[in-house]
Amino acid sequence: MRQALTISFQNTYARLPGEFYARLSPEKMPTPRLLKLNEDLAKKLQLDVDALQSEAGIEFLSGRVEAEGSEPLAMAYAGHQFGHFVPQLGDGRALLLGEVLDGQGRRYDIQLKGSGRTPFSRRGDGRATLGSVLREYIVSEGMSALGVPSTRALAALLSGEGIMREQVFPGAIFVRVAQSHIRVGTFQFFAARGKKDLVKTLADYVIERHYPAVKEAENPYLALLDVVSQRQANLVAHWMALGFIHGVMNTDNTTLSGETIDYGPCAFMDTYHPDTVYSSIDHHGRYAYGNQPNIALWNMSRLAETLLFLVDANEDKAVKKIEQVLVKFPEYFSQSWRLRMGRKIGIQNTGEEDEKLIGDLLGLMAASKADFTNTFRRLCVLSIKESSLTGRANLFHGQEKSEDWFERWDKRLECDEMEPDERVAAMQKVNPSIIPRNHLVENAIQEALRENSFEAFEYIIDALKTPFVERPPRDKLVLPPEPQEVVEQTFCGT
Ligand code: AMP
Ligand code: MG
Repeated sequence: MRQALTISFQNTYARLPGEFYARLSPEKMPTPRLLKLNEDLAKKLQLDVDALQSEAGIEFLSGRVEAEGSEPLAMAYAGHQFGHFVPQLGDGRALLLGEVLDGQGRRYDIQLKGSGRTPFSRRGDGRATLGSVLREYIVSEGMSALGVPSTRALAALLSGEGIMREQVFPGAIFVRVAQSHIRVGTFQFFAARGKKDLVKTLADYVIERHYPAVKEAENPYLALLDVVSQRQANLVAHWMALGFIHGVMNTDNTTLSGETIDYGPCAFMDTYHPDTVYSSIDHHGRYAYGNQPNIALWNMSRLAETLLFLVDANEDKAVKKIEQVLVKFPEYFSQSWRLRMGRKIGIQNTGEEDEKLIGDLLGLMAASKADFTNTFRRLCVLSIKESSLTGRANLFHGQEKSEDWFERWDKRLECDEMEPDERVAAMQKVNPSIIPRNHLVENAIQEALRENSFEAFEYIIDALKTPFVERPPRDKLVLPPEPQEVVEQTFCGT
């Protein structure tokens, strides 16, 4: 029996002027197969899990059949890629199916990625490889469980096609959920064409959808820039606190909602060093770990340029007002970073004076080539001085300065009011025991490609749902990679 699939789609983006998108239907992939449905997310979005897993559901998730009420479209956007402006990018391999509301009335986009060519595809085939889809599934769900604002994975499917890259790979479709897919590059698309009215339409839409409170501000467009900057500063601070490197922070990969988007060459650092770069195409380290806050500000400046005329009709005045907002970015970032890094070492009310303690710890970690995630996780129990003298001595492989650092840390913790056990528990809530490590993600992908087995993929996405739970110390998900397992480079993988 065919199960009925009814989804209450809304299409507010499709009500915007025609210049915002190209309407088209997904290509029909030959023999789609559902690999994974994110049941928790489906339920949150008030979708019928059984129906989604039925034949009709797979026809819908693969784009073969349009659900009633869906008005699929490819979004137009531009963007600075590695600092160079490209006036037209757009959804070249993605289609927005429409929006749904969750139980609290919050609006989410449902988008297909890898669903075929669009007018924005240029020379691309509009397809996605299985590897890139599994990767985005694991890392985006991992980020979300770690508490980082992120796009989410609703489903992954095989398309039934083989697609050509360096070799033939299985084609796949990723079903992505986001608060919206509006990017800094969406603003740039209209600004670059001199379409001021459409920049205004877009800004008003973003305010209505994401930041209705700014309507009350004296200058709503300036307030919009301010709140988006705050979100980005907080987002990047969150990445930094988890050792996450986005890898391709182009303006087209920077959302207005403040969610992490586009998991291409991203990576969680194993060994800590601020200059770490994994992306194979980031030759100059533009998007290196330690450079991410600077780039986020650079991206906010590109957004600001598109809003100038809305902020004030007089350009000089507009520039002054905008500068006053952008100048706050470093402080927004530092505040969020300090708070997060402070909590990671058990300090609840971190002040500016704690930055030295945190900075010196990072210095020790870099000098001893410490594993980022495991060092912070170990520090949780090592915060109890009496029980952990050997553990402390071993942590930085005999770095001389470490004894002094531990002494200063002990003194600082004495000023905080928490009980030692309570502190360990609080620290374990912000220092994950597992993250989507590169070699684990790579292993899950290789197992799928070589052996057509999705066991490793299933195992890791299940484990990553509870990243702060203590695990056995020799657990494969906890251990850093063996030398032969280390992933040196990541790729955009489309
Ligand atoms: P990304 O690297 O995912 O941020 O994508 C940059 C641009 O390239 C976007 O406009 C994408 O839609 C487009 N693109 C990436 N891969 C493909 C593909 N396989 N076919 C068509 N367009 C693509
Ligand atoms: Mg992108």
